[in-house]
Amino acid sequence: MQSSMMSMPLTISSLIEHAARYHGETEVISVETDGTVATSNWSRIESDARKLSAVLSSLHVSSDACCATVAWNNKRHLQIYFGVAAGGRVCHTINPRLFPEQIEYIVNHAADEVVFFDKTFTPLVRALKDKLQTVKHYIFMGESDDEVKTAIPEVLFYDELLASASDDYIWPALDENTPSSLCYTSGTTGHPKGVLYTHRTTVLHSIGGNQPDGLAISAKDTVLPVVPMFHVNAWGVPYIAAAVGCRMVLPGPGLDGDSLVRLIDGYGVSLALGVPTIWIGLLAALEKTGSKVPSLKRTVVGGSALPTSMLQDFRDNYQVDSIHAWGMTETSPLGTINQPLFKHLELPEAEYEHVRLGQGRPLYGIELRLVDDDGVQVAEDGESHGRLQTRGLWVVSQYYKASESALSEDGWFDTGDVATIDNDGYLIIRDRSKDMIKSGGEWISSVELENIAMSHPSIAQAAAIAAAHKQWDERPVMIVVRHENAELREDELLQFFDNKIASWQKPDAVIFVDALPLGGTGKVLKTRLREQYGRHLL
Ligand code: AMP
Repeated sequence: MQSSMMSMPLTISSLIEHAARYHGETEVISVETDGTVATSNWSRIESDARKLSAVLSSLHVSSDACCATVAWNNKRHLQIYFGVAAGGRVCHTINPRLFPEQIEYIVNHAADEVVFFDKTFTPLVRALKDKLQTVKHYIFMGESDDEVKTAIPEVLFYDELLASASDDYIWPALDENTPSSLCYTSGTTGHPKGVLYTHRTTVLHSIGGNQPDGLAISAKDTVLPVVPMFHVNAWGVPYIAAAVGCRMVLPGPGLDGDSLVRLIDGYGVSLALGVPTIWIGLLAALEKTGSKVPSLKRTVVGGSALPTSMLQDFRDNYQVDSIHAWGMTETSPLGTINQPLFKHLELPEAEYEHVRLGQGRPLYGIELRLVDDDGVQVAEDGESHGRLQTRGLWVVSQYYKASESALSEDGWFDTGDVATIDNDGYLIIRDRSKDMIKSGGEWISSVELENIAMSHPSIAQAAAIAAAHKQWDERPVMIVVRHENAELREDELLQFFDNKIASWQKPDAVIFVDALPLGGTGKVLKTRLREQYGRHLL
C-alpha cells in the first residue's frame, strides 16, 4: 500500500535552515578565545555554515571526510557543526583535555582530513602535527594571526577563507542515514572508542530530547551550554537550539564561576547546562558576589550524579530548579531526564526531593532494562540492583571501525552502570560497575557514600574508592576536599555517616586532599585515586 505522506529525510541542514528562516534575528552570543564578545544571529550562523561547506569543497576535502575540531564553545564552532555536517562531512569534536597520545590516536583512527582549532590549542596542534598522518589542512578559527602562522606555517585562516566564499552554495541532498558527527569516549582503559552519529539519530535526539518533559528548551529561552561542544556535542544542545530558535550564549574558554555569573546576569540566561563540578564553581561565585541570578530558572545537571546539597542550594537560595539527567556518549547522550509525574506534585517536600534527586525516567525513544551478571532480567522495584542496558532511536550499535557489534545477542547495549529502576521507570545510578566496592562479598555503592559526604556543610567534593583490605578484600576509603577555611577532622566526618547507612558500609578512613584528579570530561578519575590510595589500609 502506498502512503499519502511526504518523505523528507531527517537532516541537520533542516535544523539550521529552520533557525535561519524563522528565527534569523535571534542572537547567538559568543565569547571568543581572547575574551571579547561577538554577537551573531541564526541567519548569519547559517550563511557562514554554507560558506564553510563551499570552502571545504574548494579545498578538495573529500565529500565524506572527517573534519576535527579542537575548540571551545563559540560561534565558529557552531558554524562548523552545521557547515561540516550539512555538506555531507563528519564533524569530529576532539576533547583537548585528553592525553596528547590519545588525541594522536583518535585523529589517525578517524583519518581526519581537516583540523579546526582555537588559539588556546595552537601549542597542542603544533606538538602533534607531525604525527597526524591524514590531515591535509589546519584551519585556525579566527582572523589571520602571525603567532599562529609562525607556529604552524601551513595554517589557513578561517575568517579569510569565509570572506572569499559565497553563501549561495547549495547543500547536497543527503540520505538521513549519512554519518554527521563523531565523538570518542574517554575510557579509562584501552584506546578511546568512536561513536559515529547520523543525521537521522541527531534529529531524532533533538526532537525526543526536547519534549516538555525533556530539556524543554523553547524560543523564549536564553540557553548557556557550559557543557563543552567537544563533549558529546554539548549534549545535543546546538542542534536543539537551532530546531527551536532560542537565544544562545556560548561561553568560550572561561568556565569558572565568576565568568559564568557575569554571562548569566549580563545576558539574562534562563537555562544553563553542565556537569556538577561546574555548578560547584558557580555556587561558590554566587555566594561571593551576592548575585541572585534572577533570570536563571533551570540548570540541567548530568555527566555525574547531582549532589543533594547542590539541588538544595540552587532551590532554596536562587529559586533555580536542578534537572538531573543521565546519558553517555553511546546514547547521543540523552537517556533519562528527571521531570516529575502528576502524582508527585502532591508529595511532601522531602519525598518530592527524593524523587527529583534520581536520574529521572527515559525519554520517548529510549528503553532501559536491568539484568544480573547472567543476563537475566532484574525486577524494576526501586530496590533490586542490576546492570543497566539500553536500546533506542539514538543508541550506538557498533563503535566506529570496530569489527564487532557493541550489543548483546538480543540487541541491547550494556552501559557499564549499576542501577535500580522503580515501577514508574525512574532510574537511580548506583555506581559504575567497576567503581563498586565489594566488602566481604557484599556490595557498597561509592555514589551513596559520596552523596552522604557531600551533604556535610564542610565538604566541597568527595570520592569513595575501594581500598584493598586483608580481611574484607575491599573496604571503602573516602577522599575529600574541604570547603575553603572549613575545619573538619576524620573522626567527625566518619561520625556523620552514623544512621545514614548500615554501619558495615561506613568508610574505614578519610583522606583530605586539596583537589580531586579530574578526567577530560570533568569527572573524578577514580582509577588515579585507586592507584594512589588503593593500598591505604594495608
Ligand atoms: P560519557 O560517555 O563520558 O558521557 O560518560 C557516561 C557515563 O557517565 C555514564 O555511563 C554514567 O556512568 C555517568 N553518568 C552520566 N550521567 C550521570 C548522572 N546523572 N549520574 C551519575 N552518573 C552519570
